[in-house]
Amino acid sequence: MDRPPSGPAGPARTSGATVTANLLAAAEPKTANLIEARDLHLSFGSTPALRGASLGVRKGEIVAVMGPSGSGKSTLLHCLAGILVAEAGEVWLGRQRLDTLSDERRSALRRDRFGFVFQSGQLVPELTAEENVALPLLLSGTRRGPAMTAARKWFPALGLDRLEGRRSGELSGGQAQRIALARGLVAGPQMLFADEPTGALDSVAGELVMNLLTAAAREHGTTVVIVTHDARVAAYADRKVIVRDGTVGTLTGTRP
Ligand code: ADP
Repeated sequence: MDRPPSGPAGPARTSGATVTANLLAAAEPKTANLIEARDLHLSFGSTPALRGASLGVRKGEIVAVMGPSGSGKSTLLHCLAGILVAEAGEVWLGRQRLDTLSDERRSALRRDRFGFVFQSGQLVPELTAEENVALPLLLSGTRRGPAMTAARKWFPALGLDRLEGRRSGELSGGQAQRIALARGLVAGPQMLFADEPTGALDSVAGELVMNLLTAAAREHGTTVVIVTHDARVAAYADRKVIVRDGTVGTLTGTRP
């Protein structure tokens, strides 16, 4: 966790250099997790969804959360993002405990620091593509002019030139999902949560969305948690974890 360790620094050493090194080590955070779920438990009625789920994600890391349908992946994502609060366990964002905050403070935190991309985009049909992208900025109080200017900047980068004025009914699934991605990133979130972001797309469109998502996240240093059952999507992540029966295990990792 991104906090100094609370325990003793270990046995005293005789060498001054070693003592100094120990003190420095004690002052360093043990790990640099930006977000961390600790031993989460949550049931829906009599259905257990999380049964001791723990997951830490480092700053700038892209983690894929895989596992069978119904294993608790989305519930874990929703707990990390403060949408759901577990019955037991803790969620930390840096040095801040997230799960004990009020609903109001959790939603302010989601608005100001998190971005979201869900399956099939969920664009607001009454709004144009650029208004959809600008939405997180408008909701956090940015004036319309600057919000629309910021939104429009995403269109060329995502291959969406000249689609700014279209409504979701006039867009392909792949285009709508890229607009949803721009909306997730427009406010420069510290964390991006994506739940099956390519679920409704064919493999070519899915690949394009994942290329854009990972490139944008790396460029902006965004930390990303992606829920997916698709190994091709997970292949873009730095690390993969697997959720089974409400607990998290390691599947494989391309980085330690
Ligand atoms: P996954 O994302 O891995 O498919 P979920 O986290 O959606 O799994 O669901 C985990 C378990 O919790 C499943 O048994 C699911 O049916 C149940 N569940 C999830 N959300 C709800 C809900 N809102 N109401 C009732 N049961 C739910």
